Amino acid sequence: MKGEAGNARPAMSKLCDKCGKEMPDGSIAYEVRIQVYADFDGVIPQIETAEELEARLNELVAAMDGADPDELMRDVFHEERHLLCPGCRERYLANPLNLPLPDTHR
Ligand SMILES: [Zn+2]
Repeated sequence: MKGEAGNARPAMSKLCDKCGKEMPDGSIAYEVRIQVYADFDGVIPQIETAEELEARLNELVAAMDGADPDELMRDVFHEERHLLCPGCRERYLANPLNLPLPDTHR
């Protein structure tokens, strides 16, 4: 993709947010946009790591336990974006919630 070429921008290489691998300009990177809503049904988090998931859930629980309604509203929606290299994209898509994998393929 061209578009913003021409300006005196330094050719910054991108970094994978997950593994830290450098992705030189022109290489393929993937943006992962994570939106976390508290739903009437419960929470449907799309989060990269189990630690993140746990942290989010803890935040939500804490928020609902005695926070004022305004704060609560802010806490029921969360958005973040990450840049992933192709390898990390594969791993992410294979298991977005980082669940323990069942032994079905052995
Ligand atoms: Zn990566």
